[in-house]
Amino acid sequence: MAIHDATIAIDFDGTVVTHAYPEIGEDAGAAPVLKELTDNGCRLILYSMRHGKLLDRAVEWFRVRGIPLYAVNENPSQKRWTSSPKIHADLYIDDCNLGCPLRFIDGEKHPVADWAKIREQLVREGFLD
Ligand SMILES: [Mg+2]
Repeated sequence: MAIHDATIAIDFDGTVVTHAYPEIGEDAGAAPVLKELTDNGCRLILYSMRHGKLLDRAVEWFRVRGIPLYAVNENPSQKRWTSSPKIHADLYIDDCNLGCPLRFIDGEKHPVADWAKIREQLVREGFLD
């Protein structure tokens, strides 16, 4: 039985898509896993250094794939109990996290999050069945 009420903060460039900032990179393999998480009741918070129109394009990436976002660059529910600017989440998925599985793509300078391995970790840690 997976954890159904987790709040998961998710980085965009290099994590959800390959590095192409300010453009939108290729899906790194995240979409089906993110859909699985939201179908299971997890809340996704997009957290990204993008802002303005560039952030809008990232939000659009989720919308066209039918992946609901709970919030963007904030956790609205934490305002009830803290004034901290850190986005509170149960889990953070970010290509810059220590230990985030990465894979290299031919011709690409920077590695990208490895979603096959991330999915395995999510199962192991109880976020997915
Ligand atoms: Mg990143």
